[in-house]
Amino acid sequence: MIIFQHSADLTKWLNQETASGRSVGFVPTMGALHAGHISLIAISNLETDITVCSIFVNPTQFNDPKDFQKYPITLEKDIAMLEAAGTDILFLPGVSELYPTGTRGLEHYDLGSLETLLEGKYRPGHFQGVCQVMSRLLNIVRPDDLFMGQKDYQQCMVIQRLLTLMDLPSRLHRCPIIRESDGLAMSSRNLRLSPKQRANATAIYRALLLLSQQFRAAPTTALVAAGVILKEAEFQIDYLSVADAATLEPVTDPADAAGLVALIAAFQGEVRLIDNMIL
Ligand code: AMP
Repeated sequence: MIIFQHSADLTKWLNQETASGRSVGFVPTMGALHAGHISLIAISNLETDITVCSIFVNPTQFNDPKDFQKYPITLEKDIAMLEAAGTDILFLPGVSELYPTGTRGLEHYDLGSLETLLEGKYRPGHFQGVCQVMSRLLNIVRPDDLFMGQKDYQQCMVIQRLLTLMDLPSRLHRCPIIRESDGLAMSSRNLRLSPKQRANATAIYRALLLLSQQFRAAPTTALVAAGVILKEAEFQIDYLSVADAATLEPVTDPADAAGLVALIAAFQGEVRLIDNMIL
């Protein structure tokens, strides 16, 4: 694996390699890697010739400064995991590499209702930050294929929109959620849970399963029961929603939507967890 810290060096290397027609897959991350991230590397390795992974904890997407300060950093372990997974390139830019003129007064993206629904509503500015960093990374890597996790369902929708806004031909692949054996979606933030919180955290998966089994037959009862599961496990709920899978607008009558997705964001103590399930 070759590690690049400067975009000019990475661009030069990629230009040489792709001149002969080799395809590039890209897996952007914020590090503290786990098997969920590695599954994206594995899919990219299968589908493309060169897999580029980036690790960059993007300051502009954290609406809560405490969350940014406490974001876990495990770089040595990450490098070992990426090497073992057969990653070709690791891009490790510093803040000034991506934001040479600073992180204030950056460009704005028109994300429509994606910015006011669900994550957009509860994390104001978050998706602007995601687009600010992703537009820079995409311009540097210029991938044929982009691999992102369904774990961040709404983020995948935002990035699809960003690709359209930037008029980029990269194909976005929404890859399956990798879970712990008890159902908890793998997340870098799980490292911050106490043993008791970690045990409570499985309630999110149980609530999603209940919705997948019961929402179509009895929407209101299923949503209430899912809420009870979360509250009994001491979760503070930001949202618990069954939405149209194409728009994320809440659905009350399952017959109204072609596809449904259940989405949850909730705090276990100070740690905010998100998860979803396509019903
Ligand atoms: P992050 O480092 O949290 O920004 O995540 C980097 C990428 O990994 C994003 O595309 C996430 O959606 C994806 N990802 C995170 N957790 C998982 C998971 N449990 N399963 C699959 N993909 C994941």
